[in-house]
Amino acid sequence: MSSNNPNLQLATKTKILNGGPLPTVIAGPCSAESEEQMLQTARELKKDHRVSVFRAGIWKPRTRPGMFEGIGTVGLEWLNTVKQETGLLTTCEVANANHVEESLKYGVDILWIGARTTVNPFSVQEIADALRGVDIPVMVKNPVNPDIQLWVGALERLNQAGITDLGLIHRGFSTPNNKPYRNHPKWETIKQIKALLPGVPLLCDPSHVAGRRDLLQTVSQQALHLGVDGLMIETHNNPDVAWSDASQQVTPAGLDTLLTSLDLDTEHV
Ligand code: PEP
Ligand code: MN
Repeated sequence: MSSNNPNLQLATKTKILNGGPLPTVIAGPCSAESEEQMLQTARELKKDHRVSVFRAGIWKPRTRPGMFEGIGTVGLEWLNTVKQETGLLTTCEVANANHVEESLKYGVDILWIGARTTVNPFSVQEIADALRGVDIPVMVKNPVNPDIQLWVGALERLNQAGITDLGLIHRGFSTPNNKPYRNHPKWETIKQIKALLPGVPLLCDPSHVAGRRDLLQTVSQQALHLGVDGLMIETHNNPDVAWSDASQQVTPAGLDTLLTSLDLDTEHV
């Protein structure tokens, strides 16, 4: 297998996408904080038929120490309660083998690998090895740096371990000048990865690209115009007091306004 010509064995049906003509929407808080926060947010989101997957960070990869690093395993219990009560699929980030084992134990439906993990082949391989023989969809965020080979390599490692339901999440790149974004979208890279890995669902995470609420609409629309298959948008019942990424999260009502303002029909693109 040449890294310039990835030859992935893909599932014929993906659980990552909603199967309908409209883009998949994944929503939920940056971090799980309390059962009440998770359930209140999820109950509101469930009313919006466009949302099919509920996200929450259980272990948070903070760039600097001394900040909230995630609620840990108890958050998986809340995620499972969300799933039982709302019927939404659930997803969380995993960064090592222990996270994988815990997430599988609590029935998380879809896993994702975060940008700070995709950058490290040892960590990706550890996750892939922990998933050997497990049938679960895995989405891979782009690495923090704009290195498309690292991104492709992560999918190859998972695929070689038997994961066939794979997805890509574009969350922007750390560049010398990201302004006005938190992470630069580098839309050209998106076109490249789409061409390199046709058939792999490609989502955009406008929250981590934008870093601020007022840019979410523009970033989301640009991504949809490039033909992404879905959006992952951080949504919190009370974003201003969120324990992480407060400035970029929206309320479920805000998400509704945002989605309604978008041209969600990418069929014509
Ligand atoms: C997140 O989704 O909350 C997160 C930490 O994202 P990223 O890996 O894109 O920084
Ligand atoms: Mn976040």
